[in-house]
Amino acid sequence: MIQVVWFKRDLRTIDHAALSAAALHGPVLPLYIVEPQLWQQADVSHRQYQFLTECLAELDSALQSFGQGLVVRVGDAVDVLNQLHQDYQIAAIWSHQETWNGWTFQRDKRILAWTQQHTIPWHEPTQNGVIRRLADRDGWAIQWYKTMDKAIVPAPNKLTQISIPSDKLPSADTLGLSPDGCVAAQRGGRRRALHLLDSFLSSRGEHYTKAMSSPVTAFDSCSRLSAHLAYGTLSIREVFQALAQHQQYVRQLPTGRKGQWPSGLQSFSGRLRWHCHFIQKLEDEPRSEFENLHPAYDGLRENDFNQAYFEAWQTGHTGYPMVDACMRALIATGWLNFRMRAMVMSFASYHLWLHWRKPALHLARLFTDYEPGIHYSQVQMQSGTTGINSIRIYNPIKQGIDHDSEGHFIRQWLSELANMPIETLHTPWLAPDKMNGYPMPIVDEASARKSAAAKLYQLRKNDSHEATAKKIVKKHGSRKKSTLNTSRRRKKGGDTEMKQPKQTELAL
Ligand SMILES: Cc1cc2nc3c(=O)[nH]c(=O)nc-3n(C[C@H](O)[C@H](O)[C@H](O)COP(=O)(O)OP(=O)(O)OC[C@H]3O[C@@H](n4cnc5c(N)ncnc54)[C@H](O)[C@@H]3O)c2cc1C
Repeated sequence: MIQVVWFKRDLRTIDHAALSAAALHGPVLPLYIVEPQLWQQADVSHRQYQFLTECLAELDSALQSFGQGLVVRVGDAVDVLNQLHQDYQIAAIWSHQETWNGWTFQRDKRILAWTQQHTIPWHEPTQNGVIRRLADRDGWAIQWYKTMDKAIVPAPNKLTQISIPSDKLPSADTLGLSPDGCVAAQRGGRRRALHLLDSFLSSRGEHYTKAMSSPVTAFDSCSRLSAHLAYGTLSIREVFQALAQHQQYVRQLPTGRKGQWPSGLQSFSGRLRWHCHFIQKLEDEPRSEFENLHPAYDGLRENDFNQAYFEAWQTGHTGYPMVDACMRALIATGWLNFRMRAMVMSFASYHLWLHWRKPALHLARLFTDYEPGIHYSQVQMQSGTTGINSIRIYNPIKQGIDHDSEGHFIRQWLSELANMPIETLHTPWLAPDKMNGYPMPIVDEASARKSAAAKLYQLRKNDSHEATAKKIVKKHGSRKKSTLNTSRRRKKGGDTEMKQPKQTELAL
């Protein structure tokens, strides 16, 4: 009889509740299932698989040091478990709760049916602050802090060695994944995650609050932990507790030596909570991966999809330097900072008037840190389809001037504009003789923005819009500061989703 620990998006041994609990019940089979069908979905990519394989290699080493290495099986998860049950008799399955894409949701339903059919217990502890079967968001943030404050679960001291053969990890090619231009990919594995956490908290993070917005500084000044959190090489609790320790240290420093740390660490702390806040939205409303959160927006863009615009946007040829530099940087590195992600998405949804679903899939494939819960919630926010957030349309010219004033980022990624003088770098069409093959703008920025805003605001005037928006806020909106009960937490609690949307910023 074996205890199967099914590793999913939790590729670590420390703070792994499923592994530690299973080890108390008998010999453990640490299992990773490579599911070829998952890797054929439209939202996954070569760069993500590459990152995964690096994480698995380190996980295997860690498990081997406890006495039993990782067993890889390739195939449909139900078939794999069925075979293991026939060969070795599964006493129980242990895996962390997973909130991922629609495909994994359906797969987990099939697994549940299979475990019930064979009366095999399937234990699913949580690994983050996401709560299953949540009625509404009242008290959610308080619960999140309680979860983050719980003790880190130690790794088991020892695992009994069992002799169960492992499949070879398939190559990306075998799974049908072709290299996708990610020439400067972020590398996976817990060792690198710990190094990033340490360097962020000890040096890189000091100017985080300011530096996170510009792509010139963000690549170094953001934590860069997102892909690690997405694959679980670190748990969000480990990050939160390391941060809390560092905050404690900074608090004790004399005022003159604190520098910008208090603000940087405070901003970072809020974002760790957002991580779970957004995944919770998808957990509560899985359809938001595919459909507008607010149904009033159904039919708004569907019939206007301009394929040529889409392709220009995908490849970084829209004629707007900041958008194009971001898209080309993303192709090459697999990462962008939040503001630039928001800008490229907003440009696709508003200026190019593309329905969000195809752009969202394209970005999902390009992000090494693809996390559906955060991704689709953000995509819908930046497309104006949640019905509860202010409409924010980023002006890419202004973003360029504000966040790449000297043009370092644009020149790095747009070789055509390497010699364009700074005076016209953000508006190269004003110096047509120096464009060097760089395209003219595919749409007029101001009129495209105004036209999109007018359509959205027109819809929001509708009486039925507000009634539905209130229900969405009740279910998904973060609560006001006052719902958090300690003064420390009161400071951290406030997002603005309880407020009804106003006509705000049209040209961020
Ligand atoms: C259109 C769009 C799509 C996005 N898709 C993803 C995605 O697929 N995966 C993903 O991890 N993030 C996504 N984000 C959120 C954010 O841009 C990234 O989390 C962040 O840039 C990752 O870099 P970092 O780890 O250095 O973040 P840091 O700034 O160092 O933040 C630390 C952690 O906090 C969390 N976090 C930060 N910002 C946000 C946010 N706005 N919402 C929720 N959590 C946040 C992430 O887990 C991040 O790793 C998206 C944002 C937008 C606008």
